[in-house]
This record gives sequence, structure tokens and C-alpha cells, in this order.
Amino acid sequence: MSTTRRDFLKVTTIGGVAATVLGFDLAPAYAQTQALKIARTTETRSTCPYCSVSCGVIIHTIGDKAKNVKPQVVHVEGDPDHPINRGTLCPKGSSLEQDILNDRRITGPQVRRPGSDHWEDISWDQAIDEIAHRVKKTRDETFIEKDSKGATVNRCEGFAWVGGCTDTNEFNYLVGKVVRAGLGTPYYETQARV
Ligand code: SF4
Repeated sequence: MSTTRRDFLKVTTIGGVAATVLGFDLAPAYAQTQALKIARTTETRSTCPYCSVSCGVIIHTIGDKAKNVKPQVVHVEGDPDHPINRGTLCPKGSSLEQDILNDRRITGPQVRRPGSDHWEDISWDQAIDEIAHRVKKTRDETFIEKDSKGATVNRCEGFAWVGGCTDTNEFNYLVGKVVRAGLGTPYYETQARV
């Protein structure tokens, strides 16, 4: 039997009136339907990666973590305990679930070789190996011990480091040690507010 819009309005209106007349309180039932979606999920706190405001988010995943079970993200919402956003998210942050559950999401390293017109997938081992070789080569070729006036500077201008908004203070502290003291580059910036 098909239900017309008029039938639907009649039933819901009569139901609402009956509930009011008979003294039913439908609020708990509505609250229960809201809770069901995340009732059995695991909450993981994270940071919205889209901009430097760095709002806190809670990612809800379902799956009992058994060996053959792949956790599935079912909901993402603002973290009410986070001091930056207090549970709120802008429209971009609110769409994070679609960013996570997306066929076009890149989940591994890629490289575009000089002169190439496309990106190719490489393994993490290969990516780390190639980065290490390029860092060593660049540092050897661009390290400056003295500037044009003869002053000792010991810096490397061949590098720049740009951090992301999900980098924590602790991570950035270590990065500062590595890029400034280790590599000698003065070009270090990050948009982190975490
Ligand atoms: S939710 Fe919006 S304002 Fe907050 S970090 Fe994400 S993009 Fe920036």
C-alpha cells in the first residue's frame, strides 16, 4: 500500500496529538534514535586537517578490533571537550567523514619524477630511502659555513620545512631540533595550533 503525503501528515499529527493527550513523553524515544548511530562505536580524538584553526574532532569507528575485522568510520563530530572549538565545526570540518571514506583518498606515498606528467605509487621504504638520499645530497651541496662577509653561519639554505596543522607542540619541538640544529636550515614554518 502506498502512503501519500496527506496520509503521512494525518498519521504523524494524530500520533503527536495522541501522545500529548495520553501523556506520553516522546523525548526519550527521539533521544534514543539519536544515540543509536554511535552507541557501539570506538571514539578516537583527532584534529581537523583543513586549516590552522585545528579544531578537535571525535572519529567514531565500528568494529570489535578482531584480527579479520577492519574498523569502519561511521561518524565524525566536533569534540565538545576541545578548548579551540568546544564541539563546533565549520562546513569543511563537518564533511570530514566524506574525506575519510573516499575512493580518491591517497593513503600511500607517491612521487612525480623530473619531466614526468604523472604521479606513481611507491612503497614507504622506497619513499624514506629516497628522501634520505636527497636530504644528504642537498645538505652536502648547499651547506654554507661562512657568509659573504666571512662571518661563520653554518646554515643550509637548500631546505625548507613546512609543518601541518595536526602537528603537535611536542612534534614541532623535535622538528625544530632536527631542521635547525641537525640540518641547519633557517626556513622552518608550521601552521600548527595544537
Ligand atoms: S573545522 Fe573548519 S575552522 Fe575548524 S580546523 Fe577544520 S576547517 Fe578549520
